Amino acid sequence: MPPSAAPPTAGPAGPDAAAARPVAFRARRVLDIRSGRTIADGVVVCRGDRIEQVSGQPPADAELLDLGDRTLLPGLIDTHTHVLLQGNRTREAYAHQILREDPAHRVVRAVRSLGVALGHGFTTLRDLGTEGCGYADVAIRDAVAEGVVPGPRLLVAGPAIGRTGTYPLLGYRSDWRFPVGVAECEGAEGCRSEVRREIARGVDWIKVYATQGRGLHLTDDGYLDAPPPWTQAELDALVDEAHRQGQRVAAHASEATGTDMAVAAGVDSIEHGYSIRPATARAMAEHGIALVPTLLVAREVSGNRAAERGSPWTEVPEVHRRSVENCRQAGVPIVCGTDVGGFEWEDVNQAEELPILVELGWSPLEAIQSATLLAARLLQREGQIGELTVGAAADLAACPGDPLEDIRRVLDIDVVVRAGRVVVAPPDGLHPVPEA
Ligand SMILES: [Zn+2]
Repeated sequence: MPPSAAPPTAGPAGPDAAAARPVAFRARRVLDIRSGRTIADGVVVCRGDRIEQVSGQPPADAELLDLGDRTLLPGLIDTHTHVLLQGNRTREAYAHQILREDPAHRVVRAVRSLGVALGHGFTTLRDLGTEGCGYADVAIRDAVAEGVVPGPRLLVAGPAIGRTGTYPLLGYRSDWRFPVGVAECEGAEGCRSEVRREIARGVDWIKVYATQGRGLHLTDDGYLDAPPPWTQAELDALVDEAHRQGQRVAAHASEATGTDMAVAAGVDSIEHGYSIRPATARAMAEHGIALVPTLLVAREVSGNRAAERGSPWTEVPEVHRRSVENCRQAGVPIVCGTDVGGFEWEDVNQAEELPILVELGWSPLEAIQSATLLAARLLQREGQIGELTVGAAADLAACPGDPLEDIRRVLDIDVVVRAGRVVVAPPDGLHPVPEA
Protein backbone atom coordinates (compact mmCIF):
# COMPACT_ATOMS: atom_id res chain seq x y z
CA MET A 1 0.00 0.00 0.00
CA PRO A 2 1.43 3.45 -0.84
CA PRO A 3 1.95 5.88 2.04
CA SER A 4 -0.93 8.27 2.62
CA ALA A 5 -0.67 11.59 0.79
CA ALA A 6 -2.78 13.34 3.41
CA PRO A 7 -1.11 16.22 5.30
CA PRO A 8 -0.96 16.09 9.11
CA THR A 9 -4.24 17.18 10.62
CA ALA A 10 -3.48 17.72 14.32
CA GLY A 11 -4.86 21.09 15.41
CA PRO A 12 -3.14 23.67 17.61
CA ALA A 13 -5.16 22.50 20.59
CA GLY A 14 -3.62 19.03 20.43
CA PRO A 15 -5.13 15.58 20.84
CA ASP A 16 -6.55 16.07 24.33
CA ALA A 17 -8.73 19.04 23.33
CA ALA A 18 -11.95 17.18 24.09
CA ALA A 19 -10.87 16.64 27.67
CA ALA A 20 -9.86 20.28 28.23
CA ARG A 21 -11.72 22.43 30.75
CA PRO A 22 -14.22 24.62 28.91
CA VAL A 23 -13.70 28.38 28.79
CA ALA A 24 -16.75 30.63 28.63
CA PHE A 25 -16.59 34.21 27.31
CA ARG A 26 -19.32 36.58 28.43
CA ALA A 27 -19.80 39.89 26.60
CA ARG A 28 -22.35 42.71 26.69
CA ARG A 29 -23.20 41.79 23.08
CA VAL A 30 -22.68 38.52 21.19
CA LEU A 31 -23.28 38.85 17.45
CA ASP A 32 -25.31 36.24 15.58
CA ILE A 33 -23.74 36.89 12.19
CA ARG A 34 -26.57 35.28 10.22
CA SER A 35 -29.52 37.17 11.69
CA GLY A 36 -27.59 40.30 12.61
CA ARG A 37 -29.10 40.19 16.09
CA THR A 38 -26.98 40.66 19.15
CA ILE A 39 -27.55 38.57 22.25
CA ALA A 40 -27.39 40.77 25.34
CA ASP A 41 -24.93 39.51 27.96
CA GLY A 42 -24.39 36.39 25.86
CA VAL A 43 -21.97 33.60 26.67
CA VAL A 44 -19.91 31.56 24.21
CA VAL A 45 -18.44 28.37 25.62
CA CYS A 46 -15.33 26.88 24.01
CA ARG A 47 -13.99 23.43 24.75
CA GLY A 48 -10.61 22.68 23.20
CA ASP A 49 -10.58 24.25 19.73
CA ARG A 50 -14.38 24.13 19.19
CA ILE A 51 -17.39 26.17 20.24
CA GLU A 52 -19.51 23.98 22.48
CA GLN A 53 -22.38 26.27 23.41
CA VAL A 54 -23.66 29.74 22.43
CA SER A 55 -26.47 30.42 24.85
CA GLY A 56 -27.78 29.54 28.28
CA GLN A 57 -25.78 28.90 31.42
CA PRO A 58 -22.13 27.84 31.00
CA PRO A 59 -21.31 24.38 32.37
CA ALA A 60 -20.41 24.27 36.05
CA ASP A 61 -16.76 23.33 35.39
CA ALA A 62 -16.17 26.20 32.88
CA GLU A 63 -13.78 29.06 33.52
CA LEU A 64 -15.87 32.21 32.91
CA LEU A 65 -14.07 35.25 31.45
CA ASP A 66 -15.93 38.54 31.43
CA LEU A 67 -15.33 40.74 28.37
CA GLY A 68 -17.38 43.61 29.78
CA ASP A 69 -18.80 46.21 27.39
CA ARG A 70 -17.55 44.47 24.29
CA THR A 71 -19.13 42.85 21.25
CA LEU A 72 -18.08 39.26 20.64
CA LEU A 73 -17.68 38.43 16.94
CA PRO A 74 -16.46 35.42 15.01
CA GLY A 75 -12.73 35.75 14.23
CA LEU A 76 -12.36 37.71 10.99
CA ILE A 77 -11.23 36.20 7.69
CA ASP A 78 -9.01 37.96 5.16
CA THR A 79 -9.24 36.11 1.85
CA HIS A 80 -6.39 37.93 0.13
CA THR A 81 -3.05 38.24 1.90
CA HIS A 82 0.67 37.80 1.27
CA VAL A 83 2.38 36.86 4.50
CA LEU A 84 5.73 36.58 2.71
CA LEU A 85 5.59 40.13 1.35
CA GLN A 86 6.33 43.23 3.40
CA GLY A 87 5.07 46.12 1.34
CA ASN A 88 5.13 46.46 -2.39
CA ARG A 89 4.62 50.18 -2.93
CA THR A 90 7.53 50.57 -5.34
CA ARG A 91 9.33 48.37 -7.85
CA GLU A 92 12.48 48.82 -5.77
CA ALA A 93 10.84 47.57 -2.58
CA TYR A 94 9.67 44.49 -4.44
CA ALA A 95 13.00 43.81 -6.16
CA HIS A 96 14.80 44.15 -2.83
CA GLN A 97 12.74 41.34 -1.31
CA ILE A 98 13.09 39.08 -4.34
CA LEU A 99 16.79 39.63 -4.98
CA ARG A 100 18.41 40.41 -1.66
CA GLU A 101 16.46 38.69 1.09
CA ASP A 102 17.05 35.04 1.84
CA PRO A 103 13.86 32.96 2.06
CA ALA A 104 14.64 32.32 5.74
CA HIS A 105 14.58 36.07 6.41
CA ARG A 106 11.27 36.39 4.63
CA VAL A 107 9.81 33.46 6.57
CA VAL A 108 10.77 35.03 9.90
CA ARG A 109 9.06 38.24 8.84
CA ALA A 110 6.04 36.20 7.72
CA VAL A 111 5.78 34.75 11.23
CA ARG A 112 5.68 38.31 12.56
CA SER A 113 2.92 39.08 10.04
CA LEU A 114 0.86 36.22 11.44
CA GLY A 115 1.01 37.89 14.84
CA VAL A 116 -0.03 41.21 13.33
CA ALA A 117 -3.04 39.56 11.65
CA LEU A 118 -4.10 37.93 14.92
CA GLY A 119 -3.70 41.29 16.65
CA HIS A 120 -6.19 42.77 14.18
CA GLY A 121 -8.73 40.01 14.86
CA PHE A 122 -8.05 37.88 11.77
CA THR A 123 -8.05 34.19 12.63
CA THR A 124 -8.11 32.81 9.06
CA LEU A 125 -6.15 33.98 6.01
CA ARG A 126 -6.23 32.82 2.43
CA ASP A 127 -2.69 33.65 1.35
CA LEU A 128 -2.49 34.16 -2.41
CA GLY A 129 1.07 33.83 -3.60
CA THR A 130 4.53 33.71 -2.09
CA GLU A 131 6.15 36.20 -4.49
CA GLY A 132 9.40 34.40 -5.14
CA CYS A 133 9.43 32.39 -1.92
CA GLY A 134 8.49 29.00 -3.36
CA TYR A 135 6.31 26.87 -1.11
CA ALA A 136 7.32 28.53 2.14
CA ASP A 137 3.60 29.23 2.75
CA VAL A 138 2.83 25.51 2.80
CA ALA A 139 5.50 25.03 5.47
CA ILE A 140 4.26 28.00 7.51
CA ARG A 141 0.67 26.72 7.31
CA ASP A 142 1.71 23.31 8.59
CA ALA A 143 3.85 24.77 11.39
CA VAL A 144 0.90 26.88 12.58
CA ALA A 145 -1.39 23.84 12.42
CA GLU A 146 1.14 21.90 14.52
CA GLY A 147 1.12 24.68 17.09
CA VAL A 148 4.80 25.57 16.55
CA VAL A 149 3.94 29.27 16.28
CA PRO A 150 0.64 31.04 16.95
CA GLY A 151 -1.09 32.28 13.85
CA PRO A 152 -4.30 32.43 11.90
CA ARG A 153 -5.45 29.28 10.11
CA LEU A 154 -3.89 29.49 6.64
CA LEU A 155 -5.11 28.40 3.23
CA VAL A 156 -2.23 28.87 0.83
CA ALA A 157 -1.59 29.06 -2.90
CA GLY A 158 2.17 28.49 -3.21
CA PRO A 159 3.58 30.49 -6.11
CA ALA A 160 0.90 32.25 -8.16
CA ILE A 161 0.84 31.20 -11.81
CA GLY A 162 1.74 33.75 -14.46
CA ARG A 163 2.32 33.52 -18.17
CA THR A 164 6.00 33.39 -19.09
CA GLY A 165 7.52 36.84 -19.38
CA THR A 166 4.71 38.89 -17.86
CA TYR A 167 5.53 39.17 -14.14
CA PRO A 168 8.31 41.01 -12.28
CA LEU A 169 11.19 41.05 -12.08
CA LEU A 170 10.99 42.53 -15.57
CA GLY A 171 13.18 44.98 -17.43
CA TYR A 172 16.58 43.81 -16.20
CA ARG A 173 19.45 42.71 -18.47
CA SER A 174 18.14 40.49 -21.25
CA ASP A 175 21.29 38.32 -21.26
CA TRP A 176 20.90 37.38 -17.59
CA ARG A 177 18.18 35.40 -15.92
CA PHE A 178 16.41 37.02 -12.98
CA PRO A 179 14.02 35.44 -10.49
CA VAL A 180 10.32 36.18 -10.85
CA GLY A 181 7.54 36.35 -8.28
CA VAL A 182 5.36 33.65 -9.88
CA ALA A 183 5.57 30.16 -11.38
CA GLU A 184 5.75 30.80 -15.11
CA CYS A 185 4.18 28.55 -17.69
CA GLU A 186 2.50 28.66 -21.09
CA GLY A 187 0.43 26.48 -23.38
CA ALA A 188 -2.57 24.48 -22.22
CA GLU A 189 -0.42 21.47 -21.29
CA GLY A 190 2.07 23.74 -19.51
CA CYS A 191 -0.78 25.17 -17.43
CA ARG A 192 -2.04 21.70 -16.53
CA SER A 193 1.47 20.60 -15.54
CA GLU A 194 1.98 23.61 -13.29
CA VAL A 195 -1.35 23.05 -11.52
CA ARG A 196 -0.41 19.38 -11.01
CA ARG A 197 2.99 20.36 -9.56
CA GLU A 198 1.40 22.83 -7.13
CA ILE A 199 -1.26 20.42 -5.94
CA ALA A 200 1.41 17.77 -5.39
CA ARG A 201 3.24 20.32 -3.20
CA GLY A 202 0.19 20.70 -0.98
CA VAL A 203 -1.40 24.05 -1.91
CA ASP A 204 -5.02 24.73 -0.89
CA TRP A 205 -5.84 27.11 -3.73
CA ILE A 206 -4.53 27.88 -7.22
CA LYS A 207 -3.84 31.56 -7.91
CA VAL A 208 -3.51 32.75 -11.49
CA TYR A 209 -2.70 36.16 -12.95
CA ALA A 210 -5.50 36.45 -15.51
CA THR A 211 -4.46 40.00 -16.42
CA GLN A 212 -1.06 41.63 -16.58
CA GLY A 213 -1.52 45.39 -16.83
CA ARG A 214 0.77 46.23 -19.74
CA GLY A 215 -0.99 48.39 -22.33
CA LEU A 216 -3.67 49.61 -19.93
CA HIS A 217 -6.19 51.93 -21.55
CA LEU A 218 -9.67 53.30 -21.04
CA THR A 219 -12.35 51.82 -23.30
CA ASP A 220 -15.06 53.82 -25.09
CA ASP A 221 -17.62 52.64 -22.55
CA GLY A 222 -15.49 53.74 -19.60
CA TYR A 223 -13.83 50.52 -18.44
CA LEU A 224 -10.16 49.53 -18.24
CA ASP A 225 -8.59 47.07 -20.60
CA ALA A 226 -5.27 45.64 -21.73
CA PRO A 227 -4.17 42.69 -23.87
CA PRO A 228 -4.74 39.49 -21.84
CA PRO A 229 -1.70 37.33 -21.12
CA TRP A 230 -3.34 33.94 -21.76
CA THR A 231 -5.34 32.35 -24.52
CA GLN A 232 -8.76 31.07 -23.51
CA ALA A 233 -7.50 27.50 -24.07
CA GLU A 234 -4.69 28.05 -21.54
CA LEU A 235 -6.99 29.45 -18.87
CA ASP A 236 -9.61 26.75 -19.51
CA ALA A 237 -6.99 24.03 -19.08
CA LEU A 238 -5.67 25.56 -15.88
CA VAL A 239 -9.09 25.83 -14.27
CA ASP A 240 -10.22 22.44 -15.55
CA GLU A 241 -7.15 20.72 -14.11
CA ALA A 242 -7.61 22.41 -10.72
CA HIS A 243 -11.32 21.62 -10.53
CA ARG A 244 -10.77 18.06 -11.74
CA GLN A 245 -8.58 17.61 -8.65
CA GLY A 246 -11.07 19.35 -6.34
CA GLN A 247 -9.05 22.55 -6.04
CA ARG A 248 -10.41 26.09 -6.37
CA VAL A 249 -8.95 28.93 -8.43
CA ALA A 250 -8.50 32.62 -7.53
CA ALA A 251 -7.83 34.92 -10.48
CA HIS A 252 -6.05 38.25 -10.22
CA ALA A 253 -8.18 40.17 -12.70
CA SER A 254 -7.84 43.92 -13.13
CA GLU A 255 -8.81 44.51 -16.75
CA ALA A 256 -11.99 43.73 -18.65
CA THR A 257 -10.91 41.18 -21.28
CA GLY A 258 -8.83 39.04 -18.93
CA THR A 259 -11.61 39.18 -16.35
CA ASP A 260 -14.17 38.00 -18.91
CA MET A 261 -11.85 35.14 -19.89
CA ALA A 262 -11.34 34.12 -16.26
CA VAL A 263 -15.10 34.15 -15.70
CA ALA A 264 -15.63 32.10 -18.86
CA ALA A 265 -13.02 29.61 -17.65
CA GLY A 266 -15.02 29.22 -14.43
CA VAL A 267 -12.60 30.48 -11.76
CA ASP A 268 -13.99 30.66 -8.22
CA SER A 269 -13.00 34.20 -7.27
CA ILE A 270 -12.07 37.39 -9.07
CA GLU A 271 -9.41 39.31 -7.16
CA HIS A 272 -9.35 43.15 -7.35
CA GLY A 273 -11.96 43.36 -10.14
CA TYR A 274 -11.07 46.88 -11.23
CA SER A 275 -13.03 46.58 -14.47
CA ILE A 276 -16.22 44.51 -14.41
CA ARG A 277 -19.04 45.39 -16.79
CA PRO A 278 -22.67 44.65 -15.77
CA ALA A 279 -22.85 41.63 -18.12
CA THR A 280 -19.71 40.17 -16.57
CA ALA A 281 -21.11 40.74 -13.09
CA ARG A 282 -24.29 38.90 -14.07
CA ALA A 283 -22.24 35.96 -15.36
CA MET A 284 -20.30 35.90 -12.08
CA ALA A 285 -23.52 35.84 -10.07
CA GLU A 286 -24.96 33.09 -12.24
CA HIS A 287 -21.90 30.87 -11.74
CA GLY A 288 -21.37 31.70 -8.07
CA ILE A 289 -18.04 33.46 -8.68
CA ALA A 290 -17.12 35.76 -5.80
CA LEU A 291 -15.52 39.20 -6.02
CA VAL A 292 -12.70 40.02 -3.60
CA PRO A 293 -12.40 43.76 -4.28
CA THR A 294 -9.26 44.44 -2.16
CA LEU A 295 -10.40 48.01 -1.55
CA LEU A 296 -7.69 48.62 1.01
CA VAL A 297 -4.75 47.94 -1.30
CA ALA A 298 -6.51 49.98 -3.97
CA ARG A 299 -6.57 52.91 -1.54
CA GLU A 300 -3.12 52.35 -0.03
CA VAL A 301 -1.05 51.53 -3.10
CA SER A 302 -2.80 51.90 -6.47
CA GLY A 303 -4.47 55.15 -5.44
CA ASN A 304 -1.21 56.70 -4.32
CA ARG A 305 0.73 55.60 -7.37
CA ALA A 306 -1.93 56.77 -9.79
CA ALA A 307 -1.00 60.43 -9.42
CA GLU A 308 2.57 59.78 -10.63
CA ARG A 309 1.46 57.50 -13.45
CA GLY A 310 -1.26 59.76 -14.85
CA SER A 311 -4.16 58.61 -17.06
CA PRO A 312 -5.58 55.95 -17.28
CA TRP A 313 -4.32 55.07 -13.77
CA THR A 314 -6.06 58.09 -12.32
CA GLU A 315 -9.37 56.63 -13.59
CA VAL A 316 -8.93 53.35 -11.73
CA PRO A 317 -10.64 54.31 -8.44
CA GLU A 318 -13.79 55.50 -10.21
CA VAL A 319 -13.98 52.48 -12.55
CA HIS A 320 -13.30 50.17 -9.61
CA ARG A 321 -16.16 51.68 -7.60
CA ARG A 322 -18.50 51.24 -10.57
CA SER A 323 -17.35 47.64 -11.05
CA VAL A 324 -17.95 46.77 -7.39
CA GLU A 325 -21.39 48.36 -7.65
CA ASN A 326 -22.15 46.33 -10.81
CA CYS A 327 -21.31 43.17 -8.85
CA ARG A 328 -23.43 44.26 -5.93
CA GLN A 329 -26.40 44.95 -8.19
CA ALA A 330 -26.00 41.54 -9.84
CA GLY A 331 -25.91 39.71 -6.51
CA VAL A 332 -22.25 38.61 -6.66
CA PRO A 333 -20.89 37.57 -3.23
CA ILE A 334 -18.46 40.34 -2.26
CA VAL A 335 -15.87 38.98 0.12
CA CYS A 336 -13.35 40.72 2.36
CA GLY A 337 -9.76 40.52 1.14
CA THR A 338 -7.21 43.26 1.66
CA ASP A 339 -4.03 42.28 -0.25
CA VAL A 340 -2.03 43.10 2.90
CA GLY A 341 1.62 42.46 2.17
CA GLY A 342 1.10 44.70 -0.85
CA PHE A 343 1.11 47.35 1.87
CA GLU A 344 2.99 47.06 5.15
CA TRP A 345 1.50 44.66 7.69
CA GLU A 346 2.32 46.85 10.67
CA ASP A 347 1.28 50.26 9.30
CA VAL A 348 -2.31 49.64 8.22
CA ASN A 349 -4.93 47.61 10.07
CA GLN A 350 -6.46 45.05 7.68
CA ALA A 351 -9.85 45.65 9.29
CA GLU A 352 -9.88 49.06 7.50
CA GLU A 353 -11.44 47.14 4.61
CA LEU A 354 -14.75 47.07 6.53
CA PRO A 355 -15.25 50.84 6.98
CA ILE A 356 -14.44 51.26 3.28
CA LEU A 357 -17.28 48.88 2.41
CA VAL A 358 -19.59 50.90 4.64
CA GLU A 359 -18.50 54.11 2.87
CA LEU A 360 -19.58 52.39 -0.38
CA GLY A 361 -23.06 51.69 0.98
CA TRP A 362 -22.82 48.41 2.88
CA SER A 363 -24.42 48.20 6.31
CA PRO A 364 -21.99 47.48 9.16
CA LEU A 365 -23.52 44.00 9.45
CA GLU A 366 -22.99 43.31 5.73
CA ALA A 367 -19.39 44.48 6.01
CA ILE A 368 -18.75 42.10 8.93
CA GLN A 369 -20.50 39.29 7.06
CA SER A 370 -18.13 39.81 4.10
CA ALA A 371 -15.23 39.05 6.48
CA THR A 372 -16.93 36.11 8.18
CA LEU A 373 -19.91 34.30 6.67
CA LEU A 374 -19.25 35.07 2.99
CA ALA A 375 -15.53 34.44 3.38
CA ALA A 376 -16.21 31.06 5.01
CA ARG A 377 -18.47 30.19 2.10
CA LEU A 378 -15.80 31.12 -0.47
CA LEU A 379 -13.31 28.97 1.43
CA GLN A 380 -15.83 26.10 1.59
CA ARG A 381 -15.69 26.23 5.39
CA GLU A 382 -19.25 27.37 6.11
CA GLY A 383 -20.30 26.29 9.59
CA GLN A 384 -16.66 25.63 10.53
CA ILE A 385 -15.35 29.20 10.70
CA GLY A 386 -16.78 32.72 10.46
CA GLU A 387 -19.69 32.27 12.86
CA LEU A 388 -20.36 31.67 16.52
CA THR A 389 -22.14 28.36 16.25
CA VAL A 390 -21.91 25.02 18.03
CA GLY A 391 -19.21 22.87 16.45
CA ALA A 392 -17.43 25.75 14.70
CA ALA A 393 -13.79 26.59 15.41
CA ALA A 394 -13.27 28.48 18.66
CA ASP A 395 -11.93 31.52 16.78
CA LEU A 396 -13.33 34.70 18.33
CA ALA A 397 -12.66 38.42 18.30
CA ALA A 398 -14.10 41.13 20.53
CA CYS A 399 -14.07 44.91 20.35
CA PRO A 400 -15.19 47.57 22.80
CA GLY A 401 -18.57 49.08 21.98
CA ASP A 402 -20.94 48.06 19.19
CA PRO A 403 -19.58 47.72 15.62
CA LEU A 404 -23.15 47.57 14.28
CA GLU A 405 -23.50 51.19 15.48
CA ASP A 406 -20.03 52.26 14.39
CA ILE A 407 -18.10 49.94 12.08
CA ARG A 408 -14.82 51.59 13.05
CA ARG A 409 -15.00 49.75 16.38
CA VAL A 410 -13.62 46.70 14.55
CA LEU A 411 -10.33 48.60 14.37
CA ASP A 412 -10.23 48.44 18.19
CA ILE A 413 -10.47 44.63 18.48
CA ASP A 414 -8.47 43.84 21.61
CA VAL A 415 -9.46 40.29 22.49
CA VAL A 416 -8.71 37.44 20.11
CA VAL A 417 -9.19 33.74 20.69
CA ARG A 418 -7.68 31.27 18.26
CA ALA A 419 -8.50 27.57 18.51
CA GLY A 420 -9.84 28.13 22.02
CA ARG A 421 -6.80 29.97 23.34
CA VAL A 422 -6.66 33.66 24.19
CA VAL A 423 -3.91 35.01 21.90
CA VAL A 424 -4.67 38.73 22.28
CA ALA A 425 -5.87 40.34 25.52
CA PRO A 426 -6.23 43.97 26.68
CA PRO A 427 -3.31 45.41 28.69
CA ASP A 428 -5.13 44.89 31.99
CA GLY A 429 -5.86 41.26 31.13
CA LEU A 430 -9.06 39.23 31.13
CA HIS A 431 -10.65 38.59 34.45
CA PRO A 432 -12.21 35.32 35.48
CA VAL A 433 -15.59 35.81 37.09
CA PRO A 434 -15.37 34.54 40.67
CA GLU A 435 -17.35 31.39 41.21
CA ALA A 436 -20.61 31.99 43.04
ZN1 LIG B 1 -2.34 40.04 -4.00
